[in-house]
Amino acid sequence: MLVPSRLELAPAEGVLRIDWPDGRRQSLDHARLRQACRCAACRSGPAGAAVGQALDQAVRIVAVQDMGYGIQLIFNDGHDRGIYPWRYLETL
Ligand SMILES: [Zn+2]
Repeated sequence: MLVPSRLELAPAEGVLRIDWPDGRRQSLDHARLRQACRCAACRSGPAGAAVGQALDQAVRIVAVQDMGYGIQLIFNDGHDRGIYPWRYLETL
């Protein structure tokens, strides 16, 4: 399994940087990650958006929890149910 060699949360820029061992570097918007949440509540909403909630471009990740097979992202809108497996992050 491919596991990032480095993760960097850059709140000022609103991005999460991921370095993969094969040299690829990803830079993912916090808002995009919030939108890409695949937890049951988010998936049941319209077009994958959070139920009754428009995507807020100002949403930020406040904490990252290492789950081994991926990361759990905690957002400043109070959402903390999203688990992002490495395999899924790679596709974003
Ligand atoms: Zn969610």
